[in-house]
Amino acid sequence: MAHLAPAGTPISLRTYLAAAARMPRSADTAERLAGALAQHSGHRSAWLTSTGRAGMVIALRALAKAANDPKRTDVVIPAYTCYSVAASVAKAGLRPRLCDIDPHTLSIDPEQLRRFDFSSVLAVVSANLYGLPNELSELEGLARARGVFMVDDAAQALGAHSKGRPVGGFGDIGLYSFDKGKSITSLDGGAVVTSDDAVIAELTRAYEDLAGANVLETLTAAAKLAVYAVMLRPTYYGVVRRLPFLGLGKTSYDLDYPIRRYDARLAGFAYELLGHLTELTRTRSANALALLAALRDVPGIALPVIASDASPSFTRLPILIRAPSDRARVLEALNRAGIGATGSYPEALCDVSDVRAVTPAADLECPGARYVAARIVTLPTHPYCPPTYAQLASAVIRAVPMENA
Ligand SMILES: *Cc1c(COP(=O)(O)O)cnc(C)c1O
Repeated sequence: MAHLAPAGTPISLRTYLAAAARMPRSADTAERLAGALAQHSGHRSAWLTSTGRAGMVIALRALAKAANDPKRTDVVIPAYTCYSVAASVAKAGLRPRLCDIDPHTLSIDPEQLRRFDFSSVLAVVSANLYGLPNELSELEGLARARGVFMVDDAAQALGAHSKGRPVGGFGDIGLYSFDKGKSITSLDGGAVVTSDDAVIAELTRAYEDLAGANVLETLTAAAKLAVYAVMLRPTYYGVVRRLPFLGLGKTSYDLDYPIRRYDARLAGFAYELLGHLTELTRTRSANALALLAALRDVPGIALPVIASDASPSFTRLPILIRAPSDRARVLEALNRAGIGATGSYPEALCDVSDVRAVTPAADLECPGARYVAARIVTLPTHPYCPPTYAQLASAVIRAVPMENA
């Protein structure tokens, strides 16, 4: 049966061929991609990396070098975000600290952050999960006032804006990802953007030492992208989604990944799709807004609070199921109806054992993050969602008997 993937970016045959045609001029295309991302974010320079997490590691190392202060070893991250953010902090030789989130906005709660002891803090990291901008100008102002760096993690939020400014462009350094479930994809890839002279010098130096991909890896990735482009279509996704070797929807804390340059020969894919970003964001937003309207009066759920001056990119739409005991039934009913709903990251970072092992005990009380982890459901918003989708999703959720309706 046809099934909507949880997230994804359609790649048409025309886009695929245009991207492949750029392979012989890969260095030029990679340079254009880096330039376009820098320009999009409002920053001066961009570096392309093998993955977003690799970009996070070199970004944090560059901040540590630029700060040149051995006391500043801590990086404050939201207690609910992608596990690889915590792993990247550890891999960079720094210590993850957790700040709780506001469960309604999913942003680091600026009040909680204000109460932090910043004496050993190097940087604060945003999350912008599902393309919903965090309270970025508050975080930026607070980081500046406390004399620490801010990393604007826009891995899921390329194309989103807050107060008219691009997400990824707040603070000192921004991060983008081209992984499969993000705003645009080339299967793998990431980018770091910044305008800070000292950080630019450190990143330039670090980047020189990084290896690139070999031709075999490029060909494998290009073949996988063709498969991805086909399998994202609901008719095929319904067939492949159960195949265990695809590892779909797995979340893990993993330190064992390479830190390399982006495979420039894949830059054409990200570059071509970046050219469609406005249109992709418009379609995802229209689907998300239709969902928000159709779900407004559904009992037993809560919709995210989106600031009036935020313009999200909606890589997915998150909702909260008020009673955690209802969530499994909601997920099951949606997936039975062909809607790729997920429970997102299964735990708050304060409950992930690898994170607990390295984070100070004082940070491990994160009720907001735990509230979200137990209740969140993400809904697809990608362009393969059919016109009747919002009504269908609403009807399916309404039909689930809720404890807390
Ligand atoms: C995906 C993601 C990353 C890491 O990006 P990869 O390209 O998958 O390594 C970092 N932060 C957030 C919030 C993400 O969603």
